[in-house]
Amino acid sequence: MTEAKRLSVKGLVIMGCEGINTTIAGLEQDLKDFISYISQTPGFENMSVKYSTSKMIPFRRFKVQIRDEIVTLNRPDLQPNEKDPSHLTPEEWHNVLTKEQDYLLIDTRNWYETEIGKFKNAIAPPITEFTEFPKWLETQNIPKEKKVLIYCTGGIRCEKAQVEMKESGFNNVFQLKDGILGYLKEFPNQTFDGECFVFDHRVAVDQNLEASKNFDLCPHCGQPSNNEISCVKCDSTAKVCERCLEKEARFETCSKNCAHHYVMNPNKKIRKHINSITMFRETKKNAATSPNK
Ligand SMILES: [Zn+2]
Ligand SMILES: [Zn+2]
Repeated sequence: MTEAKRLSVKGLVIMGCEGINTTIAGLEQDLKDFISYISQTPGFENMSVKYSTSKMIPFRRFKVQIRDEIVTLNRPDLQPNEKDPSHLTPEEWHNVLTKEQDYLLIDTRNWYETEIGKFKNAIAPPITEFTEFPKWLETQNIPKEKKVLIYCTGGIRCEKAQVEMKESGFNNVFQLKDGILGYLKEFPNQTFDGECFVFDHRVAVDQNLEASKNFDLCPHCGQPSNNEISCVKCDSTAKVCERCLEKEARFETCSKNCAHHYVMNPNKKIRKHINSITMFRETKKNAATSPNK
């Protein structure tokens, strides 16, 4: 905590029996100093660290959470085994995808994550949270000896999915070590299509692990969206998701406020009030953190 404050590192650190899972942001040298500080703690010597860039710090503060399970499956008893041979490096993974035919490729992330990008031909389960994954898997009637490849954002969720699948009898399961982020670092613009959803203000990172220029969070429902609209109420631009574009009250409005006024009085325009405040804040933030490039 003190060290994070000293180095102005922000983000969320989740700790549990399975280990530690965190996304943190800061200036490059500060991050390196922070990680080397953490790795001096016994048990944390061999952490897997993945870097991506952001023009601004996508977190407001530094927070540590202690949880029974880091990846919630309501099974704190399942403990991943680091030495497991079924972790494929990005290169091994790439070889299977480009040279083999007989396998099933499953994305273990939630539907809104897979919607903006996934591996070509991957099956994307229609799940809203990871706890639904085992149930969904049961309904698929996959033969237990089938070669199954699973992946997620950073390789953490799959650690758990894999142990769970092995327990339910699957004996030919492989996971992508370090997830999509690790793969894109070595193989951009290859077998992964689109962008990779991330759980911070960047919404997604592109094939070069840079903050998305296409996606923003929909002002109505918070899902990623790349449909730019001009607000029928105030003429500001916003990115509204397809689902919300179909709902009349949210249809082509830039904010909850404009949607509300649209319902009350569809024909009257209002001033660009709310959005100019947000834009002003964004500009200030950018200016304050611009050395972070
Ligand atoms: Zn929406
Ligand atoms: Zn508006």
